[in-house]
Amino acid sequence: MKTKPTYDVILAGGGCAGLSLLYHLLQSDWKDRSILLIDRERKEQNDRTWCFWETEPGSFESLVCQQWQQMYFHAPDFSQLLNLQPYRYKMIRGIDFYQHIYQTLASFTNVTILNEDIQELQEKEDVVQVITDQNTYEGKWVFSSLRDEDEVEQANGHQYLLQHFKGWEIRTEQPFFDPQEATLMDFRIDQGGDCRFMYVLPTDEQTALVEYTIFSDQLLEPVKYEQELRRYMLEYLGLSESDYQVIHEEFGVIPMTDMVYPRQLGKKIIRIGTAGGATKASTGYTFQRIQQDSQQIIQQLTSTGAVSTTRFSPARFHLFDSVLLNVMGRSFYPAGEAFACLFKKNPPSRVLRFLDEDTHLGEDFAIINSVPKVPFIKGAWFALQSI
Ligand SMILES: Cc1cc2nc3c(=O)[nH]c(=O)nc-3n(C[C@H](O)[C@H](O)[C@H](O)COP(=O)(O)OP(=O)(O)OC[C@H]3O[C@@H](n4cnc5c(N)ncnc54)[C@H](O)[C@@H]3O)c2cc1C
Repeated sequence: MKTKPTYDVILAGGGCAGLSLLYHLLQSDWKDRSILLIDRERKEQNDRTWCFWETEPGSFESLVCQQWQQMYFHAPDFSQLLNLQPYRYKMIRGIDFYQHIYQTLASFTNVTILNEDIQELQEKEDVVQVITDQNTYEGKWVFSSLRDEDEVEQANGHQYLLQHFKGWEIRTEQPFFDPQEATLMDFRIDQGGDCRFMYVLPTDEQTALVEYTIFSDQLLEPVKYEQELRRYMLEYLGLSESDYQVIHEEFGVIPMTDMVYPRQLGKKIIRIGTAGGATKASTGYTFQRIQQDSQQIIQQLTSTGAVSTTRFSPARFHLFDSVLLNVMGRSFYPAGEAFACLFKKNPPSRVLRFLDEDTHLGEDFAIINSVPKVPFIKGAWFALQSI
Protein backbone atom coordinates (compact mmCIF):
# COMPACT_ATOMS: atom_id res chain seq x y z
CA MET A 1 0.00 0.00 0.00
CA LYS A 2 1.25 3.47 -0.89
CA THR A 3 1.90 5.51 2.25
CA LYS A 4 0.53 9.00 2.29
CA PRO A 5 3.03 11.86 2.38
CA THR A 6 3.22 14.06 5.46
CA TYR A 7 3.36 17.59 4.16
CA ASP A 8 5.66 20.07 5.87
CA VAL A 9 2.91 22.68 5.65
CA ILE A 10 -0.79 22.47 4.91
CA LEU A 11 -2.66 25.69 4.22
CA ALA A 12 -6.31 25.19 5.05
CA GLY A 13 -8.05 27.88 3.00
CA GLY A 14 -6.46 29.57 0.02
CA GLY A 15 -7.89 33.07 0.03
CA CYS A 16 -5.89 36.15 0.88
CA ALA A 17 -4.15 34.77 3.99
CA GLY A 18 -3.47 31.25 2.67
CA LEU A 19 -2.14 32.48 -0.67
CA SER A 20 -0.11 35.27 0.98
CA LEU A 21 1.57 32.84 3.37
CA LEU A 22 2.22 30.46 0.49
CA TYR A 23 3.73 33.28 -1.58
CA HIS A 24 6.02 34.39 1.24
CA LEU A 25 7.02 30.75 1.98
CA LEU A 26 8.10 30.40 -1.64
CA GLN A 27 10.36 33.43 -1.24
CA SER A 28 11.97 31.98 1.90
CA ASP A 29 14.30 29.15 2.96
CA TRP A 30 11.19 26.97 3.17
CA LYS A 31 10.61 27.22 -0.58
CA ASP A 32 11.57 23.56 -1.16
CA ARG A 33 9.37 22.13 1.59
CA SER A 34 6.31 20.09 0.65
CA ILE A 35 3.27 22.33 0.82
CA LEU A 36 -0.40 21.48 0.31
CA LEU A 37 -3.03 24.18 -0.12
CA ILE A 38 -6.69 23.17 0.14
CA ASP A 39 -9.57 25.46 -0.68
CA ARG A 40 -13.08 24.53 -1.63
CA GLU A 41 -12.76 26.67 -4.75
CA ARG A 42 -10.20 27.94 -7.19
CA LYS A 43 -10.16 31.72 -7.17
CA GLU A 44 -11.24 32.75 -10.61
CA GLN A 45 -13.47 35.73 -9.90
CA ASN A 46 -12.55 39.30 -9.11
CA ASP A 47 -14.46 38.91 -5.84
CA ARG A 48 -12.83 41.77 -3.91
CA THR A 49 -10.61 44.81 -4.16
CA TRP A 50 -7.95 45.36 -1.54
CA CYS A 51 -6.94 48.83 -0.44
CA PHE A 52 -4.25 49.67 2.06
CA TRP A 53 -1.55 52.24 2.64
CA GLU A 54 2.21 52.04 2.92
CA THR A 55 5.22 54.29 2.54
CA GLU A 56 7.45 52.06 0.39
CA PRO A 57 6.84 49.70 -2.51
CA GLY A 58 5.51 46.44 -1.02
CA SER A 59 5.65 42.75 -1.98
CA PHE A 60 2.80 43.16 -4.45
CA GLU A 61 3.73 46.53 -5.95
CA SER A 62 3.48 45.20 -9.51
CA LEU A 63 -0.19 44.40 -8.87
CA VAL A 64 -1.14 47.87 -7.64
CA CYS A 65 -3.61 49.16 -10.23
CA GLN A 66 -3.79 52.68 -8.81
CA GLN A 67 -2.38 54.68 -5.90
CA TRP A 68 -3.16 58.06 -4.44
CA GLN A 69 -1.29 60.58 -2.33
CA GLN A 70 -4.25 62.91 -1.98
CA MET A 71 -7.69 61.88 -0.82
CA TYR A 72 -10.80 63.80 0.16
CA PHE A 73 -12.46 63.40 3.50
CA HIS A 74 -16.03 64.73 3.81
CA ALA A 75 -18.29 65.08 6.83
CA PRO A 76 -21.39 67.32 7.06
CA ASP A 77 -19.41 70.29 8.45
CA PHE A 78 -15.86 69.51 7.37
CA SER A 79 -14.26 68.71 4.03
CA GLN A 80 -10.58 68.49 3.27
CA LEU A 81 -8.23 67.19 0.63
CA LEU A 82 -5.83 65.15 2.76
CA ASN A 83 -2.21 64.92 1.81
CA LEU A 84 -1.25 61.40 2.89
CA GLN A 85 2.51 61.78 2.52
CA PRO A 86 4.65 59.80 3.23
CA TYR A 87 1.90 57.23 2.69
CA ARG A 88 0.28 56.16 -0.53
CA TYR A 89 -3.14 54.59 -0.58
CA LYS A 90 -3.00 51.62 -2.93
CA MET A 91 -5.47 49.36 -4.64
CA ILE A 92 -5.08 45.76 -5.81
CA ARG A 93 -7.77 43.80 -7.63
CA GLY A 94 -8.42 40.37 -6.10
CA ILE A 95 -8.22 38.56 -9.44
CA ASP A 96 -4.77 40.03 -10.21
CA PHE A 97 -3.54 38.85 -6.80
CA TYR A 98 -4.93 35.32 -7.22
CA GLN A 99 -3.53 34.94 -10.74
CA HIS A 100 -0.13 36.30 -9.71
CA ILE A 101 0.19 33.73 -6.92
CA TYR A 102 -1.07 30.83 -9.06
CA GLN A 103 1.46 31.78 -11.76
CA THR A 104 4.28 32.04 -9.21
CA LEU A 105 3.62 28.63 -7.75
CA ALA A 106 3.21 26.89 -11.14
CA SER A 107 7.00 26.43 -11.27
CA PHE A 108 7.15 24.79 -7.83
CA THR A 109 6.66 21.02 -8.03
CA ASN A 110 6.68 20.79 -4.23
CA VAL A 111 3.35 22.67 -4.01
CA THR A 112 0.05 20.84 -4.40
CA ILE A 113 -3.30 22.57 -4.67
CA LEU A 114 -6.57 20.75 -4.10
CA ASN A 115 -10.14 21.98 -4.30
CA GLU A 116 -11.92 20.09 -1.54
CA ASP A 117 -14.18 21.01 1.34
CA ILE A 118 -12.37 20.85 4.69
CA GLN A 119 -14.48 19.36 7.44
CA GLU A 120 -12.16 18.99 10.39
CA LEU A 121 -8.64 19.59 11.69
CA GLN A 122 -7.35 17.08 14.22
CA GLU A 123 -4.05 17.28 16.04
CA LYS A 124 -2.43 13.86 16.61
CA GLU A 125 0.85 13.05 18.37
CA ASP A 126 3.20 14.67 15.88
CA VAL A 127 1.05 15.48 12.87
CA VAL A 128 -2.14 17.35 12.14
CA GLN A 129 -4.84 15.64 10.12
CA VAL A 130 -6.89 17.69 7.71
CA ILE A 131 -10.09 15.84 6.91
CA THR A 132 -11.91 16.88 3.75
CA ASP A 133 -15.04 15.62 2.00
CA GLN A 134 -12.74 13.42 -0.11
CA ASN A 135 -9.68 12.41 1.87
CA THR A 136 -7.49 12.87 4.94
CA TYR A 137 -4.15 14.66 4.69
CA GLU A 138 -1.36 14.93 7.21
CA GLY A 139 0.86 17.91 7.84
CA LYS A 140 3.56 18.92 10.32
CA TRP A 141 2.12 22.43 10.41
CA VAL A 142 -1.37 23.58 9.49
CA PHE A 143 -2.19 27.25 8.92
CA SER A 144 -5.92 27.70 8.78
CA SER A 145 -7.93 30.67 7.55
CA LEU A 146 -11.27 28.88 8.02
CA ARG A 147 -13.76 30.87 10.07
CA ASP A 148 -15.89 29.28 12.80
CA GLU A 149 -19.57 29.13 11.97
CA ASP A 150 -20.44 30.07 15.55
CA GLU A 151 -18.15 33.13 15.59
CA VAL A 152 -21.02 35.44 16.51
CA GLU A 153 -21.95 33.33 19.55
CA GLN A 154 -18.28 33.19 20.59
CA ALA A 155 -18.30 36.99 20.61
CA ASN A 156 -21.02 37.01 23.28
CA GLY A 157 -20.40 39.96 25.60
CA HIS A 158 -18.18 41.70 23.06
CA GLN A 159 -18.98 44.26 20.43
CA TYR A 160 -19.56 42.52 17.10
CA LEU A 161 -20.46 44.87 14.27
CA LEU A 162 -20.59 44.07 10.59
CA GLN A 163 -18.84 46.16 8.02
CA HIS A 164 -20.98 45.56 4.95
CA PHE A 165 -20.57 47.21 1.63
CA LYS A 166 -21.50 47.17 -1.99
CA GLY A 167 -19.16 48.60 -4.58
CA TRP A 168 -19.82 49.44 -8.21
CA GLU A 169 -17.02 49.93 -10.65
CA ILE A 170 -18.50 52.43 -13.07
CA ARG A 171 -17.43 53.68 -16.44
CA THR A 172 -18.61 57.13 -17.48
CA GLU A 173 -19.55 58.15 -21.01
CA GLN A 174 -17.22 61.16 -20.85
CA PRO A 175 -13.93 61.81 -19.00
CA PHE A 176 -15.12 62.76 -15.52
CA PHE A 177 -12.68 61.75 -12.76
CA ASP A 178 -9.28 63.03 -11.75
CA PRO A 179 -7.44 59.72 -11.19
CA GLN A 180 -5.01 61.46 -8.81
CA GLU A 181 -7.73 62.38 -6.32
CA ALA A 182 -9.85 59.81 -4.55
CA THR A 183 -12.36 60.05 -1.72
CA LEU A 184 -11.37 58.07 1.36
CA MET A 185 -14.61 58.63 3.29
CA ASP A 186 -17.70 60.70 2.59
CA PHE A 187 -19.99 60.88 5.60
CA ARG A 188 -22.33 63.51 4.18
CA ILE A 189 -24.88 60.83 3.28
CA ASP A 190 -27.85 59.78 5.43
CA GLN A 191 -26.39 57.92 8.42
CA GLY A 192 -29.55 55.83 9.00
CA GLY A 193 -28.89 55.74 12.75
CA ASP A 194 -25.55 53.92 12.38
CA CYS A 195 -22.31 54.67 10.53
CA ARG A 196 -22.42 55.02 6.74
CA PHE A 197 -20.02 56.43 4.21
CA MET A 198 -19.11 56.30 0.54
CA TYR A 199 -15.72 56.13 -1.03
CA VAL A 200 -14.69 56.86 -4.59
CA LEU A 201 -11.52 55.42 -6.08
CA PRO A 202 -10.93 56.55 -9.67
CA THR A 203 -8.48 54.47 -11.70
CA ASP A 204 -8.64 56.65 -14.82
CA GLU A 205 -10.66 59.59 -16.10
CA GLN A 206 -13.66 57.41 -16.90
CA THR A 207 -13.48 54.59 -14.37
CA ALA A 208 -13.97 54.54 -10.60
CA LEU A 209 -14.94 52.18 -7.82
CA VAL A 210 -17.75 53.77 -5.82
CA GLU A 211 -18.51 51.90 -2.62
CA TYR A 212 -21.29 52.25 -0.03
CA THR A 213 -20.10 51.06 3.40
CA ILE A 214 -22.01 50.61 6.63
CA PHE A 215 -20.91 49.65 10.14
CA SER A 216 -23.94 48.16 11.90
CA ASP A 217 -25.26 44.92 13.36
CA GLN A 218 -27.66 44.11 10.52
CA LEU A 219 -27.32 43.89 6.75
CA LEU A 220 -29.61 46.02 4.58
CA GLU A 221 -32.01 44.69 1.97
CA PRO A 222 -29.96 44.14 -1.21
CA VAL A 223 -31.85 46.80 -3.18
CA LYS A 224 -31.02 49.48 -0.57
CA TYR A 225 -27.27 49.43 -1.31
CA GLU A 226 -27.97 50.08 -4.98
CA GLN A 227 -30.49 52.85 -4.29
CA GLU A 228 -27.94 54.64 -2.12
CA LEU A 229 -25.15 54.23 -4.67
CA ARG A 230 -27.39 55.74 -7.37
CA ARG A 231 -28.49 58.56 -5.08
CA TYR A 232 -24.90 59.39 -4.11
CA MET A 233 -23.72 59.49 -7.68
CA LEU A 234 -26.56 61.80 -8.61
CA GLU A 235 -26.50 64.13 -5.57
CA TYR A 236 -22.78 64.32 -4.83
CA LEU A 237 -21.01 63.43 -8.07
CA GLY A 238 -23.64 64.86 -10.41
CA LEU A 239 -23.82 61.64 -12.44
CA SER A 240 -27.24 60.50 -13.60
CA GLU A 241 -27.86 56.88 -14.58
CA SER A 242 -27.42 57.60 -18.27
CA ASP A 243 -23.92 59.02 -17.61
CA TYR A 244 -22.32 55.73 -16.53
CA GLN A 245 -22.37 51.97 -16.85
CA VAL A 246 -21.76 49.56 -13.98
CA ILE A 247 -18.99 47.30 -15.28
CA HIS A 248 -18.33 45.28 -12.12
CA GLU A 249 -19.77 44.96 -8.64
CA GLU A 250 -18.59 43.57 -5.31
CA PHE A 251 -20.32 42.90 -2.04
CA GLY A 252 -18.64 42.05 1.23
CA VAL A 253 -19.13 41.64 4.94
CA ILE A 254 -16.21 41.96 7.35
CA PRO A 255 -16.49 41.36 11.11
CA MET A 256 -15.57 44.25 13.42
CA THR A 257 -15.22 42.86 16.90
CA ASP A 258 -13.22 43.30 20.09
CA MET A 259 -13.37 39.58 20.74
CA VAL A 260 -9.88 38.03 20.70
CA TYR A 261 -9.77 35.28 18.09
CA PRO A 262 -7.85 32.21 19.31
CA ARG A 263 -4.67 32.10 17.24
CA GLN A 264 -3.69 28.52 17.99
CA LEU A 265 -6.08 25.60 17.77
CA GLY A 266 -3.32 23.18 18.73
CA LYS A 267 0.47 23.15 19.03
CA LYS A 268 0.79 22.93 15.25
CA ILE A 269 -2.49 24.47 14.11
CA ILE A 270 -2.19 28.20 13.68
CA ARG A 271 -4.99 30.45 12.57
CA ILE A 272 -4.28 33.15 10.04
CA GLY A 273 -6.27 35.85 8.25
CA THR A 274 -9.59 37.12 9.53
CA ALA A 275 -10.10 33.79 11.36
CA GLY A 276 -6.91 34.48 13.34
CA GLY A 277 -7.86 38.05 14.20
CA ALA A 278 -5.99 39.81 11.39
CA THR A 279 -8.88 42.17 10.70
CA LYS A 280 -8.39 45.52 12.45
CA ALA A 281 -11.44 45.70 14.70
CA SER A 282 -12.26 49.37 14.24
CA THR A 283 -11.69 49.66 10.48
CA GLY A 284 -11.89 46.23 8.85
CA TYR A 285 -8.53 46.68 7.10
CA THR A 286 -6.81 43.28 6.91
CA PHE A 287 -4.62 42.99 3.82
CA GLN A 288 -1.46 44.57 5.21
CA ARG A 289 -1.78 42.81 8.55
CA ILE A 290 -1.94 39.49 6.69
CA GLN A 291 1.30 40.34 4.87
CA GLN A 292 3.04 41.33 8.12
CA ASP A 293 1.82 38.19 9.87
CA SER A 294 2.96 35.95 6.99
CA GLN A 295 6.43 37.45 7.19
CA GLN A 296 6.56 37.05 10.95
CA ILE A 297 5.48 33.40 10.79
CA ILE A 298 8.15 32.67 8.19
CA GLN A 299 10.80 34.45 10.18
CA GLN A 300 9.97 32.27 13.17
CA LEU A 301 9.80 29.05 11.15
CA THR A 302 13.14 29.68 9.49
CA SER A 303 14.97 30.92 12.59
CA THR A 304 13.60 28.63 15.32
CA GLY A 305 11.46 26.05 13.53
CA ALA A 306 8.58 26.99 15.85
CA VAL A 307 5.76 29.49 15.67
CA SER A 308 4.70 31.43 18.72
CA THR A 309 1.69 33.51 17.88
CA THR A 310 0.62 36.56 19.73
CA ARG A 311 -2.59 38.39 19.13
CA PHE A 312 -2.56 40.90 16.33
CA SER A 313 -3.11 44.12 18.24
CA PRO A 314 -1.00 45.16 21.24
CA ALA A 315 -3.16 45.64 24.36
CA ARG A 316 -3.48 49.41 24.15
CA PHE A 317 -4.56 49.38 20.51
CA HIS A 318 -7.01 46.59 21.27
CA LEU A 319 -8.47 48.88 23.93
CA PHE A 320 -8.65 51.85 21.51
CA ASP A 321 -10.45 49.67 18.94
CA SER A 322 -12.86 48.45 21.58
CA VAL A 323 -13.59 52.01 22.73
CA LEU A 324 -14.45 53.08 19.18
CA LEU A 325 -16.58 49.97 18.60
CA ASN A 326 -18.47 50.72 21.82
CA VAL A 327 -18.94 54.37 20.86
CA MET A 328 -20.30 53.29 17.46
CA GLY A 329 -22.20 50.18 18.57
CA ARG A 330 -23.92 52.00 21.44
CA SER A 331 -24.49 55.17 19.39
CA PHE A 332 -22.65 57.41 21.87
CA TYR A 333 -21.34 59.68 19.12
CA PRO A 334 -21.66 59.77 15.31
CA ALA A 335 -18.71 57.95 13.74
CA GLY A 336 -18.44 60.47 10.91
CA GLU A 337 -17.98 63.30 13.39
CA ALA A 338 -15.40 61.28 15.31
CA PHE A 339 -13.37 60.70 12.13
CA ALA A 340 -13.79 64.39 11.27
CA CYS A 341 -12.29 65.31 14.68
CA LEU A 342 -9.30 63.09 13.94
CA PHE A 343 -8.63 64.63 10.54
CA LYS A 344 -9.29 68.19 11.72
CA LYS A 345 -6.78 68.00 14.55
CA ASN A 346 -4.08 65.65 13.27
CA PRO A 347 -1.93 65.36 10.18
CA PRO A 348 -3.32 62.52 8.03
CA SER A 349 -0.04 60.59 8.39
CA ARG A 350 -0.53 60.46 12.18
CA VAL A 351 -4.05 59.09 11.79
CA LEU A 352 -2.85 56.42 9.37
CA ARG A 353 0.10 55.56 11.63
CA PHE A 354 -2.32 55.26 14.56
CA LEU A 355 -4.57 52.92 12.56
CA ASP A 356 -1.41 50.94 11.71
CA GLU A 357 -0.74 50.69 15.48
CA ASP A 358 2.64 52.31 14.91
CA THR A 359 2.26 55.51 16.94
CA HIS A 360 4.17 56.26 20.13
CA LEU A 361 2.39 57.23 23.36
CA GLY A 362 2.65 60.98 22.71
CA GLU A 363 0.91 60.57 19.37
CA ASP A 364 -1.73 58.31 20.93
CA PHE A 365 -2.42 61.07 23.42
CA ALA A 366 -2.82 63.62 20.61
CA ILE A 367 -5.30 61.32 18.89
CA ILE A 368 -7.26 60.69 22.09
CA ASN A 369 -7.30 64.40 22.76
CA SER A 370 -8.91 65.04 19.37
CA VAL A 371 -12.22 63.35 20.12
CA PRO A 372 -14.94 64.56 22.54
CA LYS A 373 -14.38 63.38 26.09
CA VAL A 374 -17.80 62.31 27.37
CA PRO A 375 -18.87 59.79 24.67
CA PHE A 376 -15.38 58.31 24.53
CA ILE A 377 -15.09 57.96 28.31
CA LYS A 378 -18.45 56.15 28.21
CA GLY A 379 -17.08 53.96 25.40
CA ALA A 380 -13.93 53.28 27.43
CA TRP A 381 -15.99 52.28 30.45
CA PHE A 382 -17.84 49.62 28.42
CA ALA A 383 -14.64 48.56 26.64
CA LEU A 384 -12.93 47.93 29.96
CA GLN A 385 -15.82 45.67 31.07
CA SER A 386 -15.54 43.43 28.04
CA ILE A 387 -11.91 43.04 26.99
C1 LIG B 1 -15.39 42.30 -0.80
C2 LIG B 1 -14.28 42.51 0.23
C3 LIG B 1 -13.44 43.60 0.12
C4 LIG B 1 -12.42 43.81 1.07
N1 LIG B 1 -11.62 44.90 0.93
C5 LIG B 1 -10.59 45.07 1.79
C6 LIG B 1 -9.70 46.16 1.63
O1 LIG B 1 -9.89 47.02 0.77
N2 LIG B 1 -8.64 46.26 2.47
C7 LIG B 1 -8.40 45.34 3.44
O2 LIG B 1 -7.40 45.47 4.15
N3 LIG B 1 -9.27 44.33 3.66
C8 LIG B 1 -10.34 44.16 2.85
N4 LIG B 1 -11.19 43.10 3.03
C9 LIG B 1 -11.01 42.27 4.23
C10 LIG B 1 -9.97 41.14 4.06
O3 LIG B 1 -8.77 41.64 3.54
C11 LIG B 1 -10.46 40.04 3.15
O4 LIG B 1 -11.65 39.50 3.62
C12 LIG B 1 -9.43 38.92 3.01
O5 LIG B 1 -9.81 38.16 1.90
C13 LIG B 1 -9.33 38.04 4.25
O6 LIG B 1 -8.47 36.99 3.99
P1 LIG B 1 -8.69 35.54 4.59
O7 LIG B 1 -7.71 34.64 3.96
O8 LIG B 1 -8.78 35.63 6.06
O9 LIG B 1 -10.17 35.11 4.09
P2 LIG B 1 -10.57 34.71 2.62
O10 LIG B 1 -9.82 35.49 1.63
O11 LIG B 1 -12.05 34.76 2.60
O12 LIG B 1 -10.08 33.20 2.50
C14 LIG B 1 -10.66 32.13 3.21
C15 LIG B 1 -10.68 30.94 2.24
O13 LIG B 1 -11.11 29.78 2.93
C16 LIG B 1 -11.90 29.01 2.03
N5 LIG B 1 -12.73 28.14 2.84
C17 LIG B 1 -13.61 28.51 3.80
N6 LIG B 1 -14.16 27.41 4.35
C18 LIG B 1 -13.61 26.34 3.73
C19 LIG B 1 -13.76 24.93 3.87
N7 LIG B 1 -14.60 24.39 4.77
N8 LIG B 1 -13.04 24.12 3.08
C20 LIG B 1 -12.18 24.63 2.15
N9 LIG B 1 -12.00 25.96 1.98
C21 LIG B 1 -12.69 26.79 2.76
C22 LIG B 1 -12.68 30.04 1.23
O14 LIG B 1 -13.09 29.51 0.00
C23 LIG B 1 -11.65 31.16 1.08
O15 LIG B 1 -10.94 31.06 -0.13
C24 LIG B 1 -12.23 42.87 2.13
C25 LIG B 1 -13.12 41.81 2.25
C26 LIG B 1 -14.13 41.62 1.32
C27 LIG B 1 -15.07 40.45 1.51
